[in-house]
Amino acid sequence: MNLEFSPEEIAFRDEVRAFIRDNYPKELVGLGNREDLTREQFLAWHKILGKKGWSAPAWPKKYGGTGWTSTQRYIWSEENARVDALMPLPFGISMVGPVIYTFGNEEQKAKHLPGILAGDVWWAQGYSEPGAGSDLASLKTTAVRDGDHYVINGQKTWTTLAQHADWGFFLCRTDPSAKAQEGISFILVDMKTPGIEVRPIKLIDGTHEVNETWLTDVRVPVENLVGKENEGWTYAKFLLAHERSGIAGVARSKRGVERLRSIASQETLDGTPLIKTDEFARKISQLEIDLTALEFTELRTLASEAAGKGPGPESSILKIKGTEIQQRLTELTLEAVGNYGAPYARGMDHFGSNEIGVGPDYSNFSADAYFNMRKTSIYGGSNEIQRNIISKMILGL
Ligand SMILES: Cc1cc2nc3c(=O)[nH]c(=O)nc-3n(C[C@H](O)[C@H](O)[C@H](O)COP(=O)(O)OP(=O)(O)OC[C@H]3O[C@@H](n4cnc5c(N)ncnc54)[C@H](O)[C@@H]3O)c2cc1C
Repeated sequence: MNLEFSPEEIAFRDEVRAFIRDNYPKELVGLGNREDLTREQFLAWHKILGKKGWSAPAWPKKYGGTGWTSTQRYIWSEENARVDALMPLPFGISMVGPVIYTFGNEEQKAKHLPGILAGDVWWAQGYSEPGAGSDLASLKTTAVRDGDHYVINGQKTWTTLAQHADWGFFLCRTDPSAKAQEGISFILVDMKTPGIEVRPIKLIDGTHEVNETWLTDVRVPVENLVGKENEGWTYAKFLLAHERSGIAGVARSKRGVERLRSIASQETLDGTPLIKTDEFARKISQLEIDLTALEFTELRTLASEAAGKGPGPESSILKIKGTEIQQRLTELTLEAVGNYGAPYARGMDHFGSNEIGVGPDYSNFSADAYFNMRKTSIYGGSNEIQRNIISKMILGL
């Protein structure tokens, strides 16, 4: 693809930039992507984008997508990352939405797609279970047919932000006698249905980001089955490819590198700005080289998506490299702020707190971010599993 912007693309960039400047909620500026926000804060930008018709750039136009080219989508990500915008959460837009418009029936599309686009309905992902993470096909939650309902029993875990969820998409075993992958179904569940209990799990940085979700005799209408019974594994894998390609976060990491450069110009080692010391300069340069390589890989994926191909096993490459870079960024940021990263500063720089931090503002949250980002090489399928996928599906080993 041609990476020089045409006059039309520059005009598009200016339009997007002006829209973000004029419409991004002022109270969210500077908060970035955080797990401890309220439901309203999480959804605020999503709702504004929904009204504008810009909440799902990757969807086909006929289902409410923007019809943008891959370059326009690249510009869109860059412009949002410039202001560290809190983007729509992936569970509706990047995960269940594409499954519904690809495999769902007309009633399901009409019922669920508008709420996803508008940011009115919050979705949760009910895949993992204790004992069924990497080996997802060994999941044990059952859905047993009883008249025109399924009765679901089991336990899901790591359900991200399910404390806010209106609906969940669950993988359930509908045929215990079939081979592991063949007896699974993809079922949409209203989270207010009796029998669902969401219990918090606290992460290492102290946030309530994930949950255990218990399902006891949860009665779900049969019409909530997506596609065919026992064929859910196909839809589940399709969803994972979408999930993984979205995890790369290139535009945001580029902004993180800029921020790191700025911190390393202000922090010193024996009187020399860190950015001018050979060792730190080399680390930042290596990070930037890797990020540039990833950016080109992502652009190639976007271009092939624009040509009608969905994300395939290549999304595993984006997932591994993107998450490694995100982790290295938080490691280097923590290294750069040194001792200032040590105080527990949660709550210091947002929600109107006027407490003065121990170190400069940029040091707040550097330890929290470092710890929180350990998750990225685990979620969406661990990076070891992505390497297995690459070796099998891409290298044919
Ligand atoms: C913050 C966070 C949010 C999450 N959100 C959700 C969510 O919303 N919904 C949801 O359903 N799930 C969610 N997950 C779960 C996530 O998908 C799983 O944690 C992940 O798939 C790994 O599974 P596991 O934790 O059971 O680890 P295990 O599968 O037990 O793996 C343990 C270790 O063994 C390695 N390993 C396992 N098998 C192999 C193999 N064959 N070859 C090489 N190495 C292997 C793994 O890489 C890992 O290092 C989330 C996880 C985290 C950390």
